[in-house]
Amino acid sequence: MTKKRVDLVLQPDWIVPVCPRDQVLLDHVVVIEDGVIEAVCSSVQAQQQYDAEDWRVLPKMAVAPGLVNAHTHAAMTLMRGCADDLPLMTWLQEHIWPAEQKLVSLEFVTAGTELACVEMLRGGTTCFSDMYFFPDATAAVAQQLGLRAVVGLIVIDFPSAWARDADDYLRKGLALHNQMLDQPLITTALAPHAPYTVSDAPLERIRMIADEADIKVHMHVHETAGEVEQAKKASGERPLARLKRLGLLNDRLIAVHMTQLSDEEIELVAGHGVSIAHCPQSNLKLASGMCPVQRLLDSGANVAIGTDGAASNNDLDMLAEMQTAALLAKGVSGDASAVPAAVALEMATINGAKALGLDHLIGSVERGKAADLIAIDMSAIESQPMFNVVSQLVYACQRHQVRHAWVAGRQLVDNGVVAGVDMQRLKQQTRQWGSRVQACQ
Ligand SMILES: [Zn+2]
Repeated sequence: MTKKRVDLVLQPDWIVPVCPRDQVLLDHVVVIEDGVIEAVCSSVQAQQQYDAEDWRVLPKMAVAPGLVNAHTHAAMTLMRGCADDLPLMTWLQEHIWPAEQKLVSLEFVTAGTELACVEMLRGGTTCFSDMYFFPDATAAVAQQLGLRAVVGLIVIDFPSAWARDADDYLRKGLALHNQMLDQPLITTALAPHAPYTVSDAPLERIRMIADEADIKVHMHVHETAGEVEQAKKASGERPLARLKRLGLLNDRLIAVHMTQLSDEEIELVAGHGVSIAHCPQSNLKLASGMCPVQRLLDSGANVAIGTDGAASNNDLDMLAEMQTAALLAKGVSGDASAVPAAVALEMATINGAKALGLDHLIGSVERGKAADLIAIDMSAIESQPMFNVVSQLVYACQRHQVRHAWVAGRQLVDNGVVAGVDMQRLKQQTRQWGSRVQACQ
């Protein structure tokens, strides 16, 4: 029998496909051709059927889907640690917004996104969903480095260096959306910042455009109790009720944070197919509140995980975020069986993919999906003994154990080294921007 020629075969000790849940494959390989998973099959079968350009035996490694960061502000990595231990509004109004007013530019977003992408890749994140000014710069950096990204087309009522007013944000965002239509790794989402920063008229336009162009809407919603109270005081309406009135509660919406939810609201969002981007470390650090994740899951809602920006986290570490999500859910519900390890891993992979409308492409190791994969080294003493690889991944692994990462079959991280990035130059560039951020504090 002639063997089929393929680009790459990965032969680790364990494959964690994510779908179906709780499955771990031993003595199996992932066969990759033209950026796509051609087969997940036994090593014996692969040896009979395939001849690979590159056959990588990965001893003591686990191969899993690349992690999906469902909510971040990549460029804000340049503000990591510039203002800590403050509540959301003080942090935003007295530190972040003033610094952004002085510094945000194409160059700032380019430098910050590069820093973020390198950090994310080294920690096993192969796809991120972003919201920030100059989304054209975010898209350009992601393309250059080869990550998959859902670039948020930010809309906010107040002016910035990127746009004058809501119409201008939308016009520039849509121009970028059209430019990205033929880019295989970049998609876009409309990204109205939050109910308290975007008024009804632009939100109505956003709903119409999202329906017409069939794109997602990515928005911070019910982040703090203060936000909900203020809205109620001003208009008598809770923000979720307002979004419902404006027709935005549907399966396009990626609602970020969602720490303040009544029982009715949990049923409402689950019933309307809304996805939630849960950012546990940011919520804890800003003391914003805690998302009722297990109750949302029980109601049938899709819950993904995001790191939020590094200015409120202070890292872009999806393995740690997954662990925090699993632990916090138990604390919030008083139930140690809430968000078990396999569910936390789903939230960081396939649920993220679903939220972003990319679950046909990524989020699991399955035939026909894009080869967005990571290999994690389980040989370290910290990963011994090995009873359950999913438990190790969620509760004990650290991001430096991620050794390799591929997006659409292209290797972007090889033994911890990110392809095409001069780390000395990146560190120097980051130090220079750091001094400029410092000068604004
Ligand atoms: Zn955010």
